[in-house]
Amino acid sequence: MHLRQVTACPQSASYTTHRRRDGRLAWQIYVCQRHRRFSGWSVPGNLRRIADDDPPVQCGTVHDHRPQGEIIVSHIEGWMGVTGHWSDGAAPDDWRDHLRAAHSYLYYIRNERLAALTEHALRLAAAGMVNDVLMLLADAETAAAHG
Ligand SMILES: [Zn+2]
Repeated sequence: MHLRQVTACPQSASYTTHRRRDGRLAWQIYVCQRHRRFSGWSVPGNLRRIADDDPPVQCGTVHDHRPQGEIIVSHIEGWMGVTGHWSDGAAPDDWRDHLRAAHSYLYYIRNERLAALTEHALRLAAAGMVNDVLMLLADAETAAAHG
């Protein structure tokens, strides 16, 4: 399970929602009242209140159970906002290809911060350090949430 923090909200979560794929839990997010329809992570049909006796969780906590490659692509197409033409050119199952395409795009639009981030991620990927890629992207996602 890969842990993500996708809001900068200090509140305790009072709701949770999730998405399933092929009968298995893909991810689960914990959110406060205000963030219960948080963009990109809202599945209203699955929203439920957290029981009062459940252990407290910070708003924006995500338990991501997807395969590593899918999580990496979800970072690229989610908070990094690299979708459409650039992403379409990448092989759907090849997260390295997505990462390369994202890097080219971010470099092209002169987003220096994210271009440097994806370059770092590509170096880690080339060294086979996929867990480090996930940690790097999760840290950057949390930093981006804090603006
Ligand atoms: Zn919140």
